[in-house]
Amino acid sequence: MSTLRLARAVYDALRAHGEQTYPHECCGALLGRSTPEGWLVQSAIPAGNTRTDSPQNRYQIAPAELVKIEREARRQGLGIAGFYHSHPDHPAQWSPTDFTEAHWLGCSYVITAITQGKAAVTNSFLLAGATEEDKQFIQETIRVVDETDELSRG
Ligand SMILES: [Zn+2]
Repeated sequence: MSTLRLARAVYDALRAHGEQTYPHECCGALLGRSTPEGWLVQSAIPAGNTRTDSPQNRYQIAPAELVKIEREARRQGLGIAGFYHSHPDHPAQWSPTDFTEAHWLGCSYVITAITQGKAAVTNSFLLAGATEEDKQFIQETIRVVDETDELSRG
């Protein structure tokens, strides 16, 4: 089972973001470094949810915003480790739509259930596979990293 390491500040921020946008979904990108043990996420970039048709159970990051996120990642010397979003009053499990709209192979998709406005379970799913045709979500362990020591060592 792969492990996604999240800096404590990132973990707290993405859960807080879901509480702020409740009852709508929040979304954003995760920036980090690729290590032999998997992604080490050091920062999160909140994004606006551009889906207006059904913001409580759909999310989408605008292409222009994604360009900004990639630029910010380069500036910080990091890569796009994945994306996060929230599920207001729904379990922290990926939906068929989440799967269809996930295209970043090798990246992590973090989902937080927001129950009555409060962040509950947070899960992460690695988008595994070599092509769009054989992609699959694999649940991974989330490890919250407290110390900057590990962050600087990678
Ligand atoms: Zn979802």
